[in-house]
Amino acid sequence: MVSTVDQFPVSPSTERPSVLVSACLLGVACTHRGESRSNLAVEALRSEAHLIAVCPEIAGGLPTPRPRAERGSDGRVRTAVGDDLTAFYERGAEQAVALARAAGVRRAILKARSPSCGSRQIYDGSHSGVLISGEGFTASALRRAGVAVISDDDL
Ligand code: SF4
Repeated sequence: MVSTVDQFPVSPSTERPSVLVSACLLGVACTHRGESRSNLAVEALRSEAHLIAVCPEIAGGLPTPRPRAERGSDGRVRTAVGDDLTAFYERGAEQAVALARAAGVRRAILKARSPSCGSRQIYDGSHSGVLISGEGFTASALRRAGVAVISDDDL
């Protein structure tokens, strides 16, 4: 059976590789509501990978709890009342990339549909529950930095 970690392009010499993981998937209560999104499939990877937790929104300077925000078609992240939080999301993505580089991370498992961590779909910015193809700031920045990204939906 092929493990989830083996789904990534792994160097043959890599042993117990470091994998960056959305902190909420590892039980940290860091969602905008102050909740976690613990994922048993992610936890199970601890035996075969060194999991490094990061919450880009907290790393970027946002509090918990915090207003729900979505990334719109102009690339900006705004709350439902129009407050532009883009700078926090950009800073969080930079922090995640810096962490990945410092730890030699080549793979990441990120929470689906988040304006930071979403890697295939995100909400469309209308705050009406509509999903579109797209990715969050951190998923995008990690990919540009050469990190292979999957989501918890892929496990
Ligand atoms: S920014 Fe990412 S790690 Fe933080 S709560 Fe949102 S999905 Fe989870």
